[in-house]
Amino acid sequence: MKRRDLINLAGLALAGGVLGLPSTALASGNGQRVIIIGAGISGLAAASRLNELGYNVTILESRNRLGGRIWTDDRWPKTPVDLGASWIHGVIGNPITAIAKAAGARTVTTRSDRYIIYGKDGKIITPKQESRIEELSVMINRSIRISQNANRDRSILETVRSAVKWDQLSGEDRSWVDHIINSNIEQEYAGSAADTSTLWFDSDLAFQGKDALFSDGFRTLTKHLANGLDIRIGTTVTEVAWNPSGVSVTTDQGMIQADKVVITLPLGVLKANKVRFDPGLPATKQKAIQALGMGLLNKCFLRFPKVFWPADRDWLESIGPVPGLWGEWVSYARSLGKPILVGFNAADVGRKVETWSDRKTVDSAMETLRRIYGNSIPDPVGYQITRWAADPFSLGSYSFNALGSRPTMRDDLAQSIDNRVFFAGEATDRKYFGTVHGAYLSGLRVAGEIGTTA
Ligand SMILES: Cc1cc2nc3c(=O)[nH]c(=O)nc-3n(C[C@H](O)[C@H](O)[C@H](O)COP(=O)(O)OP(=O)(O)OC[C@H]3O[C@@H](n4cnc5c(N)ncnc54)[C@H](O)[C@@H]3O)c2cc1C
Repeated sequence: MKRRDLINLAGLALAGGVLGLPSTALASGNGQRVIIIGAGISGLAAASRLNELGYNVTILESRNRLGGRIWTDDRWPKTPVDLGASWIHGVIGNPITAIAKAAGARTVTTRSDRYIIYGKDGKIITPKQESRIEELSVMINRSIRISQNANRDRSILETVRSAVKWDQLSGEDRSWVDHIINSNIEQEYAGSAADTSTLWFDSDLAFQGKDALFSDGFRTLTKHLANGLDIRIGTTVTEVAWNPSGVSVTTDQGMIQADKVVITLPLGVLKANKVRFDPGLPATKQKAIQALGMGLLNKCFLRFPKVFWPADRDWLESIGPVPGLWGEWVSYARSLGKPILVGFNAADVGRKVETWSDRKTVDSAMETLRRIYGNSIPDPVGYQITRWAADPFSLGSYSFNALGSRPTMRDDLAQSIDNRVFFAGEATDRKYFGTVHGAYLSGLRVAGEIGTTA
């Protein structure tokens, strides 16, 4: 995710009210028992805040690790890599910047304007081709704005194709258009352009400033937040039941009772009905779960014996024969000083690649790199591939505003039930969905809701 070339960013003030945090004083928890389902960033944020307020908090986490969609892998010596989230998107005013600082995390920045684009022949695109891409981008952006101003919804794919008169375009122009859609919208929001709402896809806000990577991995942050919390990993929740006197949460390790429960299950898990709710969820919430989209972004890390690509560029873009396939790469050469490339596949292409074997995936990635850099480039000495759609505790990468959904559905998703059951997680954050900071803020919001209703 490059966050964000296409979209105009809204500047944000730092005040708690602007971030959606409650400004009223919070009541002490007086030892009330709260169960939090999920030790991702939203669950950790809620738990640490509730702990501070004097609640007796336990987190139940199905995986054998913390962090959820923040997942730093250590299998390469001295080279931790983030298989889930990796950037603080927009460091200015971003709450994650402050926690990173408190955690003593080392960060480095990458820049979306340090990029290079390669065409189908593997050569850097010419200035003439670059200006044609610019021209098409302007046309695409304008058509999206016109549709939005007319308050008319259809899929991004339909909007763009009708604006550029797809049937009359040359083969080359079509591949530029496909690349623009994939790079600016699908890689960004993770939904297929055919399913993404023109009207609402970019209804989110963004923080300003550069994007920062964690030199020692994003887990520096989750570890810091988890300090002192009661977290039961390897515990999968199967049912949440509530009545006027409390909640009971059934897990594969037994049942736990509490005064309140916070659910941070990813949208993909909610969509798949992996957890039973008794009595069921309200109709508005069920509708939101159905209508909002769960997108896909996968990564393939390739570690090489040396850097053979332009080391001063953070982003490499490839417009290859298959639209979207290995269209975006990030280089760790300049930012982290490592001979590592990360190839991204999003949305429909991401789903297809996810079904491939490791061998086929690496071969396909190398085919793209060899088309650009020639046959003499070395084979990777290591690789790591993510498959977030198949991950049973996520079932996708992050949420997007699908055609047929409305931003207000995120408020429906966030709505608590009977002052017993509370909801957090990236998908519940109307302003910053699909991000770590959105998930974090949703955790603080829910802690505020519990704190003000104690
Ligand atoms: C590949 C990828 C790249 C991304 N890149 C970025 C980025 O660079 N910057 C950024 O800001 N955001 C990025 N994101 C998005 C970001 O990672 C998420 O928005 C955020 O981490 C979500 O946090 P969460 O707490 O809402 O959910 P999660 O982290 O998913 O936490 C939910 C937890 O619930 C657990 N769980 C699920 N089912 C059960 C069950 N039945 N019982 C108990 N526990 C259960 C899960 O294991 C998980 O730990 C990326 C995501 C992906 C996948």
